[in-house]
Amino acid sequence: MHRFAPNAPRAALLVPLLALLAALVVAPAGATDAPPVVKSGVTGCKRIALTFDLCPVRAPNGFDAKLVELLVATRTPATFFASGRWMAKHDDRVAELLAVPFFELGTHGAAHAHLRKLDVAGQEQEIASGVKQLADAHGRTPVLFRPPYGEYDATTERVAASLGQTVVLWSAVSGDPVPSLSAAHMLATLKPQLRDGAIVVMHANGKGVHTRELVEKLLPAIAAAGLTPVTVGELLKPCPDATPS
Ligand SMILES: [Zn+2]
Repeated sequence: MHRFAPNAPRAALLVPLLALLAALVVAPAGATDAPPVVKSGVTGCKRIALTFDLCPVRAPNGFDAKLVELLVATRTPATFFASGRWMAKHDDRVAELLAVPFFELGTHGAAHAHLRKLDVAGQEQEIASGVKQLADAHGRTPVLFRPPYGEYDATTERVAASLGQTVVLWSAVSGDPVPSLSAAHMLATLKPQLRDGAIVVMHANGKGVHTRELVEKLLPAIAAAGLTPVTVGELLKPCPDATPS
């Protein structure tokens, strides 16, 4: 253990004082008001979250029912981020997703706008209206928000926090909206990213033509990596102490 020389008592007092001042400067009051933007979850219990965005699509049937059937049949927990425009067109689908106990629904903006181009009021409208829509139509209070295009700024963080929303990005990109990417190619890209606490982004709005096929291949790869799929909400909680029964 290092001790200061007896002839330098002032230095011994000064060091902890400077450390205290530095801590106060680094963490000014109010800096912890907004929760951090989430890109991955809690590590230590080998969990991973599969997420599916429901961005607006022009096609009236913009819902990958076969993908959702696969997730249900395999009892795979998943988190969906639904945009307001998508929910307005697919009220019955929203109800379907909400009825599955191991699914979780967050929001994805009202009009899928570029948030950084909006002022505070505009961002509030974009984030809050999706949340209100889900509450009004389905009596649910979502707490997770995925910014469209993954674009956000300090205003987004403040507005989301004031609305009780955690901003959720991702750590692993599937690339599934690109039709030319095969499921095998996407799997090869994702495999090294299947890590403890990872959040994978995919799409369930029918834009990902190979998404279902990808998930078919992904589930065994996740199991082989020793990981268990959970919702984002679960992934953000501390590891359970006891082994699940
Ligand atoms: Zn989107």
